Amino acid sequence: MNNYQIDIELCNNRKEKPSFSNLQFGKTYTDHMFVMDYTQGQGWHHPRIIPYQPVTLDPAATIFHYGQTVFEGLKAYLSENEEVFLFRPEENIKRLNRSCERLCIPPVDEEIALEALKKLVAIDRDWIPNVEGMALYIRPFIISTEPNLDVSPSKSYKFMIILSPVGAFYKEGMNPVKIAVEQEYVRAVRGGTGNAKTAGNYAGAMLAQEKSGKSGYSQVLWLDGKENKYIEEVGSMNVFFKVNGEVITPALSGSILEGITRKSVIELLKHWNVPVSERKISIDEIYDAHQNGQLEEAFGTGTAAVISPIGELLWRNEKLVINNGKTGPLAQKIYDALTGIQTGKMEDPFGWRVTVE
Ligand SMILES: *Cc1c(COP(=O)(O)O)cnc(C)c1O
Repeated sequence: MNNYQIDIELCNNRKEKPSFSNLQFGKTYTDHMFVMDYTQGQGWHHPRIIPYQPVTLDPAATIFHYGQTVFEGLKAYLSENEEVFLFRPEENIKRLNRSCERLCIPPVDEEIALEALKKLVAIDRDWIPNVEGMALYIRPFIISTEPNLDVSPSKSYKFMIILSPVGAFYKEGMNPVKIAVEQEYVRAVRGGTGNAKTAGNYAGAMLAQEKSGKSGYSQVLWLDGKENKYIEEVGSMNVFFKVNGEVITPALSGSILEGITRKSVIELLKHWNVPVSERKISIDEIYDAHQNGQLEEAFGTGTAAVISPIGELLWRNEKLVINNGKTGPLAQKIYDALTGIQTGKMEDPFGWRVTVE
């Protein structure tokens, strides 16, 4: 164990809890937050939990101009016996540090980060909705804070963690979404920052998202940035297809975010002896599989929705309906297994759950 201590300053006036029945994603925050500072020479220091509050920064702070920032997203779940669980949080911390490396941000100590996550969630644990399907969303992030308009890595940073109660993603069972294959814009290219969770990727994806939303599609299916041919991701989720009994997902190419849900789905399928492979998948291959009646299921994976079945793909003005627009049995089975493990309803043969004391 490293020699560190998280200072704790509890707030005097606890906020009133919102009605957990109609929570909107990302609109409500808990009573406390975690902060740790970095300055060159001193390294990361002064980890602390303090009342939730605004951050004051110099207008020249590099985060505002050059976007040197990374983030993570995970959830805390309340079990039926009121235990609090995190799902594979070490994976999020490792990925945070991989994103840091790509953005020239000094890595954080993994033990301190995990301890910070657990302590903060424990302090605000009464914000975890005790309602089926709901959870506490955890957003760790790092911003560069040095006032400097020169384009170079900042000499100071803040690592923060904030918490937000979130409602059930699916209020009336899993609803398949309609997805438009994006032909004009790309999300990332190999060698770029697509495999880092960094702000610019999301800002750059909004226009395509807006346009597809206007034509009634909830997300876009991204194709690769070079040939505009190979499937990458769906919205901010990884994507899987079941073709003729085999499950396939795009291989990690450098431009695809390495989802922890993606990794868990692959591990689950292998555990169940369902054939699964990671490889290049062209949109033409998926189109042909659909024409031949072999495209059995398609779904996105990510922390927010866990599994998001795809009921329709729009490709060159043709609507490809998948599994009659219904949730497929495999998507349902994976969803039940992952949420069962996350909430303690099912056994966890993989050791994925971490208990918050
Ligand atoms: C976070 C994210 C995912 C999903 O990652 P999980 O760890 O499964 O939540 C997929 N794609 C993008 C672009 C993401 O930002």
